[in-house]
Amino acid sequence: MKINIGILGLQGAIIEHQKMLEKIKDVKVYIVKRKEDLDKIQGLILPGGESTTIGKLIKDFNLKDPLIDKIKNGMIVWGTCAGMILLAKKISNDSKVHLGVMDIIVKRNAYGSQLNSFSTNIVIPEVSNKAIPVVFIRAPYIEKIGKNVEALYKINDKIVAAKQDNMIVTSFHPELTNDISFHKYFVKEIKRKIR
Ligand code: GLN
Repeated sequence: MKINIGILGLQGAIIEHQKMLEKIKDVKVYIVKRKEDLDKIQGLILPGGESTTIGKLIKDFNLKDPLIDKIKNGMIVWGTCAGMILLAKKISNDSKVHLGVMDIIVKRNAYGSQLNSFSTNIVIPEVSNKAIPVVFIRAPYIEKIGKNVEALYKINDKIVAAKQDNMIVTSFHPELTNDISFHKYFVKEIKRKIR
């Protein structure tokens, strides 16, 4: 069965996610810019980029309410970096709330100015039992999670990957590496959900 996966195509690391998904069998990729595009897909990636910009474009493209609706109705969504910020119900160092659907409080640019970017290898048992390379770029972390949220990985006590029902978030960017494990996990989650 073909799985249709969308990537929100307004700003940020869109092509990078597309290239990863195209390596996985049975996946067809849609770049989502209009609300009609949301009806074709079973899962959606909110890419990294600049959350303030993407948040503004979501409104300008009349996608805010349709996105909230689809996610609340169970569409599987994965927010990477800025995508995590878009999903969060609160940003501790910013007054904005974008989609506000996930019960997490995040801190933007949480790794400060000296350490804006770094990469490391981590084992996330939920995803794979092999270590996967991950890249952090002016990344957020999660300061607080609600009771329905599961922390999938912590670095120095800070949550950098989490899951709540149909929503997955990562502070880091697996799409900027050569390892497709996280994308495979996302596809597997969609298949499990729609089976
Ligand atoms: N610092 C960005 C923001 O706050 C996120 C960075 C990223 O997505 N790589 O939106």
